[in-house]
Amino acid sequence: MVDWRLFEPLFNYARKKSLWIVSFCTGCGGIEMPPLMTSRYDLERFGMMPDPSPRQYDLFLITGYVTPKTLKRIIITYEMAPDPKYVLAHGSCPLNGGIYWDAYNAIKHLDKYIPVDVVIAGCMPRPEAVMDGIQKIMEMIENGTADGWKRYKENYEWYKKNQDELFGEGWREREARRWIPWLMDKKKEE
Ligand code: SF4
Repeated sequence: MVDWRLFEPLFNYARKKSLWIVSFCTGCGGIEMPPLMTSRYDLERFGMMPDPSPRQYDLFLITGYVTPKTLKRIIITYEMAPDPKYVLAHGSCPLNGGIYWDAYNAIKHLDKYIPVDVVIAGCMPRPEAVMDGIQKIMEMIENGTADGWKRYKENYEWYKKNQDELFGEGWREREARRWIPWLMDKKKEE
């Protein structure tokens, strides 16, 4: 029987070198993504590429302020991806609300709802700062400390409690009924 944990350092090295990104451009910070992906900063040289599918990505970028409406999509997108997965939030807004700190409809602490591995403060952070954050998360992946996906499982009750307090219990089913009613009807029949 092979103990795959022995190969974890090798896997982590490979993971660091081939990150597929889903970028959730929730706020104005999303405008920094095109320069990062194009020739000036060229993120692809680190083995990264944008990936439109929430089923396959490794790195989830949240690029700005979050509202309850977008938070629902963020949680669902996060939960859809296979482990291991990593979250990088950029801009002060996901960290503490930023300039929307007293707005009724802004989420002040994204990390109460999903685990965030690296936060890049600033409004808006320059591409160099985002590159720095990406380098940081790559280091953390290699040394095994980017473990938000494990914390989410271990502390799921706490995350779920925070999510339910905000949206009310059963919010996932309500969302699913809203977006894919035919699937919910099919489930009821089964
Ligand atoms: S931190 Fe600044 S740039 Fe980023 S989403 Fe908030 S207001 Fe916009």
